[in-house]
Amino acid sequence: MSATHSNVSDSTPVALVTGGSRGIGRAIAKTLARDGFQVFLTYVSRPEEAEAAVEEIRAAGGKAKAFRLNVGDSEAVSSFFATEIKDRVDLAVLVNNAGITKDGFLVRMKDEDFDQVLAINLRGAFVCTREAAKIMSRARKGRIINISSVVGQTGNAGQANYASAKAALLGLTKSCAKELAARQITVNAVAPGFIETDMTSGLSAEVQESYANAIPLKRMGSAADVAEAVAFLASDRASYITGQVLGVNGGMHC
Ligand code: NAP
Repeated sequence: MSATHSNVSDSTPVALVTGGSRGIGRAIAKTLARDGFQVFLTYVSRPEEAEAAVEEIRAAGGKAKAFRLNVGDSEAVSSFFATEIKDRVDLAVLVNNAGITKDGFLVRMKDEDFDQVLAINLRGAFVCTREAAKIMSRARKGRIINISSVVGQTGNAGQANYASAKAALLGLTKSCAKELAARQITVNAVAPGFIETDMTSGLSAEVQESYANAIPLKRMGSAADVAEAVAFLASDRASYITGQVLGVNGGMHC
């Protein structure tokens, strides 16, 4: 991993957002910076997007720093927490947002496509949570927010790997909430519905329209819609909420 900015070295509480360079993660990073956190955002393949996200936050008066970190690489994650977080910053919030899809029908889905989606979407969140929990436990405070998906609650044809990972994230959320409550660390999940980002822009116009028509609020959600839910769970207003799943889905699953 490498820092693309090194201007942040103050005591402002840190919110770490994995996959914060684009889409929902970028909106979360901007919103948490607006709310007074210095944001550490991670990316894996597009440094220019991470750089742009940092610049956007700084232009709005916020504090941010970008790191290259593949959450599917557990050793890299542990090393990142040891070198960039532990004993160096006040880690207040972890948002496990990094995620990928590798869609395909069940009978044609390769083992590696299943494993890769689980490694990034689920094990990545587990390893980040484990490392963050060690640090937050010492401080006896912290907020962990996992970005799941409505398909983890409902299932979806063509997404056996992704829906499994997102469903398992809910089990991880609830188990960690119980385990970490004694340390005053809350753990919650946000389950977005159909949100306008690069992840969904590849779908054909017909598919997008049919999805939007099936949503009771009759529109796709925005990344900002999800970010506001995360900001609430990260705030003092949510201090008695843990182990919960907050749907941001226009009424798709209620
Ligand atoms: P996106 O636009 O594709 O952005 C994905 C982000 O994750 C990028 O910042 C990307 O970094 C990063 N990333 C990808 N692989 C990574 C890895 N191995 N390690 C670290 N970072 C990695 O996705 P999105 O739509 O914003 O989705 C964000 C989260 O919301 C995901 O967990 C997704 O499953 C969930 N979600 C999305 C929707 C939706 O409709 N869009 C709905 C429900 C849930 P690079 O740019 O550097 O590759």
